[in-house]
Amino acid sequence: MSHTRVFAGPLRYVQGPGALELLGDLVQGYGTRPVVVIDPFVREILGARVEEILCASGLVPEVRTLTGEITAAAADEIAASVRSVGVGVVVGIGGGKALDAGKAVSLRLGVPVVTVPTVASNDSPTSKAVAMYDDQHQMASVDQLVANPHAVVVDTELIATAPAHFLRAGIGDAIAKTYEAAGCAAGTGVTTLGTRPLLIGVAIADACYTALRAHALAGLAACDRHEVTDDLEALVEAVVLLSGMGFENGGLSLAHSLTRGLMRARGAKTAMHGEHVAWATLVQRVAERAPAAEIEELRGFLRDVGLPVTLTELGMSGPSPAEIREIARVTMTAPHLANLGTPVTEDDITAAILTVESA
Ligand SMILES: [Zn+2]
Repeated sequence: MSHTRVFAGPLRYVQGPGALELLGDLVQGYGTRPVVVIDPFVREILGARVEEILCASGLVPEVRTLTGEITAAAADEIAASVRSVGVGVVVGIGGGKALDAGKAVSLRLGVPVVTVPTVASNDSPTSKAVAMYDDQHQMASVDQLVANPHAVVVDTELIATAPAHFLRAGIGDAIAKTYEAAGCAAGTGVTTLGTRPLLIGVAIADACYTALRAHALAGLAACDRHEVTDDLEALVEAVVLLSGMGFENGGLSLAHSLTRGLMRARGAKTAMHGEHVAWATLVQRVAERAPAAEIEELRGFLRDVGLPVTLTELGMSGPSPAEIREIARVTMTAPHLANLGTPVTEDDITAAILTVESA
């Protein structure tokens, strides 16, 4: 078993302007009673259109709104409210919380999930991971679906309508993947699928990096103008599909481990996940003793994109030595630390953070 390696990905990925219109066709094969789990804010804007699209395909959707945090109790409640309906598929529509809620409900009902992200702020729409929280807004667990979403539907008109800071954060989440997959391949750990990586993980993570470097700035500018262009399409594919399949098959490493510490850090804890990962990627590169010129070049790219490159920019102004050590301490509790060519200690992480902060 120790030599077994696993590949995972969504069964279908559909991206383009107006892709939402295909939702009815995509879920038609899963019975006539889909459950739609949607953000209250997104329901106001898109709810009627989504119901129309599904009804036009002869489906009778049950629509549930996720109000508040995505907790086990909230997912249990939604699942219980539709259990007698004979649901064949769950469709999650909205930002991260609604998608996680859709995944959590599908897990409870034992049926497939389809994700429809309305922002591209991270790569969770393609993955089988489910981020669950408690009532105090603290991450409680990362649950795993039996399989990845059966379809991921990314309507780039919706992505281009959303504020560009979501897509900017998505770039931060994605930029780490090439280094994390390389770290996993060089180290001794496992991917989130629980095995050593196949070669395809690094290949996808590298393709993600190449696409980001080629299209991030022009794609962001298009998003600012609320325009769907080829650069925006390529950027969205990198942020949602390549980044998601890159981490799931390539493995996570120090950059994502650092988000554990940042989620508890003063001021920084309210920054978006992708903003955490952007800064944390610099820390990983320093800890890996990457050439200084290469780290400087990466910092310049993150600056050009508008992502944070210091703790102060993440919201933690003037971090104290004790606060930095605490970030390093919590980081050491993450499961991805074996995914580095050379193992690191709490002292190494503290030193790497101080180096990034002193640049
Ligand atoms: Zn991430």
